[in-house]
Amino acid sequence: LDREEPNYFGAGPAQLPTNVLQQAAKDLINFQGLGIGAGEISHRSAAGVGIVNHTKEYLRKLWQIPVTHEVFFLQGGGTTGFSSIPTNLSAAFAKKSGKKGRPAYVITGSWSKKACEEAERLGFDSQVVVNAKTADGKFGDIPDVDKWTIPVAEDTPYVYYCDNETVHGVEFQEFPYEKFPGVEIVADMSSNFLSKPVDFSKYGLVFGGAQKNVGIAGVTIYIIKKSLLDYPSVKELRKLDIPITPIAFDYPTVISKDSAYNTIPTFAVHIIELVLENLIKKGGIEIQQQENVKKSDLLYSTLEKYPTFYHLPVTKRARSRMNVVFTIKDGSLDAEFLKEASDVKLTGLKGHRSVGGMRASLYNAVTLPSVQLLADFVDKFAKAHQ
Ligand code: PLP
Repeated sequence: LDREEPNYFGAGPAQLPTNVLQQAAKDLINFQGLGIGAGEISHRSAAGVGIVNHTKEYLRKLWQIPVTHEVFFLQGGGTTGFSSIPTNLSAAFAKKSGKKGRPAYVITGSWSKKACEEAERLGFDSQVVVNAKTADGKFGDIPDVDKWTIPVAEDTPYVYYCDNETVHGVEFQEFPYEKFPGVEIVADMSSNFLSKPVDFSKYGLVFGGAQKNVGIAGVTIYIIKKSLLDYPSVKELRKLDIPITPIAFDYPTVISKDSAYNTIPTFAVHIIELVLENLIKKGGIEIQQQENVKKSDLLYSTLEKYPTFYHLPVTKRARSRMNVVFTIKDGSLDAEFLKEASDVKLTGLKGHRSVGGMRASLYNAVTLPSVQLLADFVDKFAKAHQ
């Protein structure tokens, strides 16, 4: 059960620590000496419930999640969050206000745009706080807050934003919470989950798919303020024209069954458990954040050494520490870059099809030595081809 350490920069699913996967592989065959694997046990057995509970405990400990917030797991990926957030949070808002309200969206890249479009598709009349898309159809900055249209709190169930836009490499340094008094803040942290400390007291809901920083595909983690779990009756929701959430994605229902209202992917949750255990042993979230800062600083500063050769399309203030997006000259060297990189076993660097160029994803499991190899290659490639 061994492999050469990968230098894989794919955007997700992403590389996980080899020691975690080695343990997971053993546990897939025989979990805790039960003679049966972690993917075969019942999600209602003591071992299955233990996996869910330990994973929640580790996450609470690592990310300092306060008692005011609940942690739970859903299937369906981040995309199911796009659909389940408007229905669930509007129900909670209706309970308090007696109104449907209009959810607000901050659009800084393709994922927040998709989330907003899904709310509209479901019949919500969204308010766009800001749309950072430029006239030529690109994302690459977070506009100044004074250019945002701040919604009226009494009509707004929540304001939604994506903390790290995976495709465009745009990340918030800090969301301007103070501009939204009385409005619940919702963040998609799928691609920077557990990459830095977060003050959860500022949030109504944080969610993220596991498959980038904390596990494999199949589980999405939600951290929700407990006061957002009280809904009116289905009859009342119908009267207010709020779509009813399918039962497997109804947050209070799932939470009341400890994330196992229906069959939870126990093995996929166990991998998260192992990743979190590994991060605790490594020293915790601050250590991880320091490493992430070092890795991204190293790569950005190397790319910046060749300003006529490499182009960084994202403004400095909005640069992601997780997804480093860059293009090479006029694009004619892209294939050569990828080929030469792959020859030295640096893989997963091709940019998203909608953006082109390159994207190096530096998630938690990508090591500093791996990024050093990539930075050396970036340096050599520019010297050879500029
Ligand atoms: N949100 C962000 C920031 C993402 O990067 C992705 C996928 O890459 C998604 C949401 C959608 O996740 P999924 O494919 O799990 O539905």
